[in-house]
Amino acid sequence: MSHDPWNGHNPEDDPIFLEKVTKYRAEQKPLEEAEELRMREVWRAQYLAHTINLSTGESTDKDEYLCVICCRSFTQGRGKFKWIACKTCLAFDRAAACVLGSKQLIPLGLHSIMNGAFIDTSANPTLQLTQKDRLLAHVSNYGILINHRSAVLKEMAEEIGWADRETVPWGDWVNIFPASFAHSEEAYLDLIDEKYDWVYSVLPQLEKHGWLAKQARKLVAA
Ligand SMILES: [Zn+2]
Repeated sequence: MSHDPWNGHNPEDDPIFLEKVTKYRAEQKPLEEAEELRMREVWRAQYLAHTINLSTGESTDKDEYLCVICCRSFTQGRGKFKWIACKTCLAFDRAAACVLGSKQLIPLGLHSIMNGAFIDTSANPTLQLTQKDRLLAHVSNYGILINHRSAVLKEMAEEIGWADRETVPWGDWVNIFPASFAHSEEAYLDLIDEKYDWVYSVLPQLEKHGWLAKQARKLVAA
């Protein structure tokens, strides 16, 4: 017994079938167009709602911030235990630190404890003083990094003639400044050059072109 409902005929030759298909398509068309329009509106609303402030690096979402290193991606995590650099830039810092047997080179945690800075009030007073110094260093480093981001953002905005703009839609920003592994590499090395050049004394390999990117790639792939 054949399971072919068309009995060997081509349905496209059947005028009744064709009429039904045409009618169905005609009914569906306005629904599809309305859905497409709705999706376009949703996308446009998201695109416009998500705006970044070019002086502070904050998004209108308030708990989202541009990476202090590349300024091309938002940072990871929420609340007080988040990083102030994006995932790729963090990989560069971790790769450099890893060679030295450490977890991080630059304090990129928002909370001091993420950077190993805390005061143990039950510890010996001399130790507490050392811990206090570390905590103060964390605070001043935070200031250095935030100021660095403002300076980089300003430079980027000037480069494209947006120096007088206070805010820009996120979509416009990433269209011009997309994030990439190579951009993070460049931005991380610029930051080391400008603010943490002592790193070269403990990690002279950094001078070698492409060395850090190779280490970071290994870490990302692991
Ligand atoms: Zn970044």
